[in-house]
Amino acid sequence: MDRASDIVMTTSKQKVVSQVFHLGKNGKVGAARDLPVLEQFLYAICREGATPEAADKAFDGLQKRFFDWNEIRVSSAREIADAIEEFVPDAENRGQRLINFLQEVFESTFSFDLESMQKKGLKQAAKQLARYQAASDFAVAWVIQKSLGGHAIPVDAPSLRVLRRLGVLEEGQNDGEAQRASLEHQVPKAKGAEFVDLISVLADEHCWDPDPACPACPLGKVCPTGIETKLAAVSTGHKKPR
Ligand code: SF4
Repeated sequence: MDRASDIVMTTSKQKVVSQVFHLGKNGKVGAARDLPVLEQFLYAICREGATPEAADKAFDGLQKRFFDWNEIRVSSAREIADAIEEFVPDAENRGQRLINFLQEVFESTFSFDLESMQKKGLKQAAKQLARYQAASDFAVAWVIQKSLGGHAIPVDAPSLRVLRRLGVLEEGQNDGEAQRASLEHQVPKAKGAEFVDLISVLADEHCWDPDPACPACPLGKVCPTGIETKLAAVSTGHKKPR
């Protein structure tokens, strides 16, 4: 067990999770978008690895630049990147995922409508979503949480980094399904969407990779990594986090 894990035993994961919700008081997390299944999947592609604000801008940018989903389907990844790269990283790769997804949906349904998933059980819907080439664990969990009424916590790479540093997820825990199960146990369903947004904002504003801004972080007093960083700075006389 590493030092961060030792410390989290005394601070407790639950205390850390409840402190995360205090971050919501700064008003930076907006209401979740109420979107149909297809649009929610497209939004998830914009949102993965980005903040809620950046994803909103990218998603809005797509809708402004293109006439409809079909126009995006027949566009190039570069053209899509032009509409979103101002807001989110890795724009061309996202553009290709958007095209791939729309193409697959169109080939199988001759439409851009996945509302029939609302009638399937959650497990069945999750399986079907995961079959799309553009799917990721994040996108599937996002749609389950936002459009299908299930309890799922989408975790992207920045969120995983933060949750591990906070000790909410353990370092050696690499199994995506086990991670989600652990989070779903710790975070109430009604607060899942807010939690996901708050962690993304924390990743963007303080918990950078590398060099997290622990001294300025609002969770510095309960985060085992932040506490460890502070102790290390005191013992070496340095103030800058590792
Ligand atoms: S205290 Fe540091 S490691 Fe912990 S969440 Fe904040 S920035 Fe990240």
